[in-house]
Amino acid sequence: MTEDEKESFYARLKEFEGRRVGEPFVARDPVNVPMIRHWCDAMGDGNPVYTDPDAAAGSVFGGPVSPPSMLQAWTMRGLAAPPPSGSNAQAELWEVFAEQGFTSVVAVNCDQEYMRYLRPGDHLTHEIVIDSISPEKETGLGTGHFINQLYTFRDQGGETVGTMTFRLFKFRPRPKKAAAKPAEGAGAKERRPRPRPSMTRDTEHFWKGLEEGKLLVQRCGSCETLRHPPEPMCPHCNSLDWDTVESAGRGVVYSFVAVHHPPLPAFDQPNPVALIELDEGVRIVSNVIGVAKEDIEIGMRVQAEFVPMDPELTLHQFRPVKD
Ligand SMILES: [Zn+2]
Repeated sequence: MTEDEKESFYARLKEFEGRRVGEPFVARDPVNVPMIRHWCDAMGDGNPVYTDPDAAAGSVFGGPVSPPSMLQAWTMRGLAAPPPSGSNAQAELWEVFAEQGFTSVVAVNCDQEYMRYLRPGDHLTHEIVIDSISPEKETGLGTGHFINQLYTFRDQGGETVGTMTFRLFKFRPRPKKAAAKPAEGAGAKERRPRPRPSMTRDTEHFWKGLEEGKLLVQRCGSCETLRHPPEPMCPHCNSLDWDTVESAGRGVVYSFVAVHHPPLPAFDQPNPVALIELDEGVRIVSNVIGVAKEDIEIGMRVQAEFVPMDPELTLHQFRPVKD
């Protein structure tokens, strides 16, 4: 597009600002304790003001309230719900974008603001408005426009109880590069170094252990429970004392996934990422090597190896073994 074409295209986009995406959507269910309980289970939130009526009654709230971050959950459309009814500015906007090749979309970030705590019985409605569209931007993904959608959540009385700004990036995908598979053996020179692990006082021992060819697993100094990944406190007895034991490095593939996208220059394509259950009982994330990804199986016996990735980094990798 010429600069003039870009300008007139952006003017067309700006006309969508302030337009509504579908009719306001009424939540399928009012705020209710069973859903709050499931949410708290899933999030591991044990705050009793959400789930224990007695504790909630004795709190500043005088009764149960919903975790604020559940805001959007209350007006989720559900998997079987029909698409938004009425004039849908977003569908029209997507067509305008598609005319110029902006066919891909990615969610970027989301901000929520809470005006008050929700209580069981509150029945929410949300309304979505296209709030703002940015000028054309160049990003790592491609050229495109950021779109802020403003969600307004209201209660049964019409009072606004929360808002959410949901930001999307609508972009023109970069043309695919011709097959970038290096010839066997030639790849190593081309390959970028692996990202450095983030090392803290709590995790340093693990990475230093790898340099010495040791797979070190943390052991609680009080109840002796093993744990991985490393963390400062024992999740069983809350003790802050710990030491390490050296794992024999043998275990099984507990689960695995072959990562195809996004392609990362430091990794094989596809990148076989596996969760290994060590014979000592803890699980550890790693790669499986020496086997085609089609042949990786859950339950497969594996043995740790310590592979120098570059002069500064040695990583644990797991290779299938017979027993
Ligand atoms: Zn412990």
